[in-house]
Amino acid sequence: MIPHNQPWINEADRQAVDAILSSGYVGHGPAVEALEADIATVMGGGSSCALSSGTAALYLSLLKLGAGCGDRIAVPTYACSALLNAVAMAGAVAEPVDIDPSDFNMSAPALAAYSPDSRIAIAVHTYGARCDIEGIESSGRIVIEDACQTMIGEYPGTGSAVVYSFYATKPLAGGHGGAAWSRDSRIVEEIHDYRNFDGRRNWVPRFNFHMADIQAGLVRSQLQRREEIIRQRRRLYDRFTSHLPAGFGMQAGLSQAACPYRCVLVAPDRAERDRFLAHSEERGVRSIVPLERYELLHRYLGLQPELFPAAEAVVDRTLSLPLYPALTDQDADRVVACLDGFH
Ligand SMILES: *Cc1c(COP(=O)(O)O)cnc(C)c1O
Repeated sequence: MIPHNQPWINEADRQAVDAILSSGYVGHGPAVEALEADIATVMGGGSSCALSSGTAALYLSLLKLGAGCGDRIAVPTYACSALLNAVAMAGAVAEPVDIDPSDFNMSAPALAAYSPDSRIAIAVHTYGARCDIEGIESSGRIVIEDACQTMIGEYPGTGSAVVYSFYATKPLAGGHGGAAWSRDSRIVEEIHDYRNFDGRRNWVPRFNFHMADIQAGLVRSQLQRREEIIRQRRRLYDRFTSHLPAGFGMQAGLSQAACPYRCVLVAPDRAERDRFLAHSEERGVRSIVPLERYELLHRYLGLQPELFPAAEAVVDRTLSLPLYPALTDQDADRVVACLDGFH
């Protein structure tokens, strides 16, 4: 069976981690600081703080951009529950916004309609498809740019804070980990202050959101072949989507993306989607439902499904094919044969 996802770990990664194991710094240390510098370099400036997860980066960005008790935070309803968790941790209230049905992203008109009073919005580049951050910012809101499904530096980083994840399935797979980046160094300094809880002169609530050097070394090593990772993902995406089964479409926005995170197909209806999943399984290709209906954030919050027609209409029709640089040419051929063999 070809797995749906696999990290690409090569000999250079093993050596990088081994060097850290030998260095004596396995927890927070010089590799974490070097990763923070790397991120700023790739982003062309600004500064960053490496953290234990993308969710921690979301939470601290919310906190340091002023989200507090009872504040409304706009979130796209088609997104992972980490967004709700981060907002809840900040003591704020998540306001789900329906998506643009073509690229699954929050749009400025949807935001105005669904969350007119929110001051802060979390905008996700869903599966790597570029979300119109500038359009959302022009509504006067503070935008936290959730770039967890993109390669670092793929998009310019217009949000007040940009958030990355290094979870095992993400474009840079550190096991766990994340980072917050901003052009505004004050925000990043405050995030550093919150994370660096130990041995401080004063006490205010802080928290251990540290990343370990072992993880940072792994991420840095992969970041060195950033261009190669992008090229491989782009190549596989273009190849698979040129073999779409009849009646199937694809998520908009990924053909133009530098680094597609997932190859998401849109079936004509749920029955066809499920028939393809069964066919794919039979062919030894693990395709998945990238987001289930019950995972839509408005469903978790018990809001009326009829208020979110775009997300409700698309969620049962999507499936995701294996798409990662560790996929061998032979396996990619099998994915193509699976697509071509579906009638
Ligand atoms: C993965 C992900 C997160 C959370 O990142 P973790 O490192 O798993 O906490 C948040 N938002 C999006 C869009 C993600 O894909």
